[in-house]
Amino acid sequence: MTASTVRPDLEDLRGRVAGVVTGQDEPGYDAARAVWNGMIDRRPWAVVRAAGVGDVTETIRFAREAGLDLAVRGGGHNVAGHGTVDDGVVLDLGELHDVAVNPSARTVRVEAGATLADVDAATEPHGLVVPIGVVSGTGIAGLTLGGGLGWLTRPYGLSADNLVMVELGTADGDTLTASETEHPDLCWALHGGGGNFGVATSFTFRAHAHGPRLFTGSLLYRPDRWRAAWAALQEWTRDLPDPMTTITTTLTPPPVAELGDQPLLVVGFAWASPDRATGEALVSRLRRLAPPDEEQVGETRWTEWQSAFDPLLPKGVRAYWRNTSFDRLDDEVIDILCRRGTEQVWPGTAFDVHHLGGAFARVPESATPFPNRAARFWLNIYGFWDEPSDDTARIAFVRGFSDDMAPFATGGQYINFQGQEPSGHRGFDPQAVFGPTKYRRLLDVKRRYDPDNLFHVNHNIA
Ligand code: FAD
Repeated sequence: MTASTVRPDLEDLRGRVAGVVTGQDEPGYDAARAVWNGMIDRRPWAVVRAAGVGDVTETIRFAREAGLDLAVRGGGHNVAGHGTVDDGVVLDLGELHDVAVNPSARTVRVEAGATLADVDAATEPHGLVVPIGVVSGTGIAGLTLGGGLGWLTRPYGLSADNLVMVELGTADGDTLTASETEHPDLCWALHGGGGNFGVATSFTFRAHAHGPRLFTGSLLYRPDRWRAAWAALQEWTRDLPDPMTTITTTLTPPPVAELGDQPLLVVGFAWASPDRATGEALVSRLRRLAPPDEEQVGETRWTEWQSAFDPLLPKGVRAYWRNTSFDRLDDEVIDILCRRGTEQVWPGTAFDVHHLGGAFARVPESATPFPNRAARFWLNIYGFWDEPSDDTARIAFVRGFSDDMAPFATGGQYINFQGQEPSGHRGFDPQAVFGPTKYRRLLDVKRRYDPDNLFHVNHNIA
């Protein structure tokens, strides 16, 4: 930001907003500045906990006038730590978490500070669902603005693919609504282009009839069966019907008796259809192709399934992630996945292979900024550990694995699965993420809606 000649005044800011403002070293400051990634230790000048849309626009104006960097926070889960900033203002939307369901129109309006748990809790009683991510404390805002992958990506697409309207605080401190008919160019950019264009105050989604109970499960494989399991997935995922989504995780489990201490490959699946018999038949086919060592399969309440993986990634762990698309599970790729899988420790690293296609792939490539709708698989390599002394080794593992996969990448990266790159290292490259055509289009929108790059604490389109 350009330095302001006026020294910012905390009492001035307090006088302008209704929400709580916490300054450096005031009571509650450490809790107010903390984000999910424990490696991100930034000291903002102030944290504003917005009490309404008026606080959002007023804080935008204040940061602009004072020449302070502005970080915007929804759920605080951004892996690169973009929900906070040194010496600037954090605009925390956590108090704004209402979710209003319109069952007859099948739409859901979500305030921008809501978590995924808030959304699922509100939609489930209506037999509806919005496709979102898999860890319930994640913020709907960062998730949706980047894309939003989860257990319902194949039947219904990304969270962003179901987004019909965004209410936004703009760079000049005003408000607007972006939809297909109002500011359509901005609306396009908000479907995967991240937090570059304004502060979203609410999102309106299309919802789908759903559950509340779902056929879900995990097939577990020990390392000596991994090759067979990956090869079976290559085959099995070729012609699956849309309702079947899988996320295959390889991790070394925590040292609890029932799982032992060997690394595991876990094929997780969710079958989003009331036709349980077809779902059962599909899973039986996978069992025949690669018999698992163990399994946990059955009907689960959707909200239980959506929080089943929460304990794996609690707030405060240190984290560094990278991701890539790829198209084949042949011998060369399987070699890498098997070798890297057995090198993992607990707590340290894990990786997920999201199997795509279905509704995700039917969205035309140019319809959103999200890259590479043709990708068959998306790999997310995620480091998560407790001790600062492990930083170097864990980061090196994630980078090494990601470099191994580079020859097989089919294009694009997912901003929401990107960690913070230390300065001097190959950092966020918007052309590599979005591709040159979409990057140029995003740049055009950025120039129109935020020409001074006020919103730059994000995966920045500068
Ligand atoms: P925050 O840190 O609050 O914000 C992140 C960034 O989003 C901010 O810098 C800002 O640029 C932008 N932003 C936030 N709020 C607003 C707003 N109101 N207006 C404008 N910009 C805003 N992703 C998936 O797709 N699927 C998953 O299943 C999934 N699981 C995850 C599990 C864990 C444990 C974690 C840590 C992350 C996961 N992610 C997943 C990635 C997640 O989508 C991103 O980390 C996302 O940025 C989190 O959003 P947030 O609102 O919690 O983040």
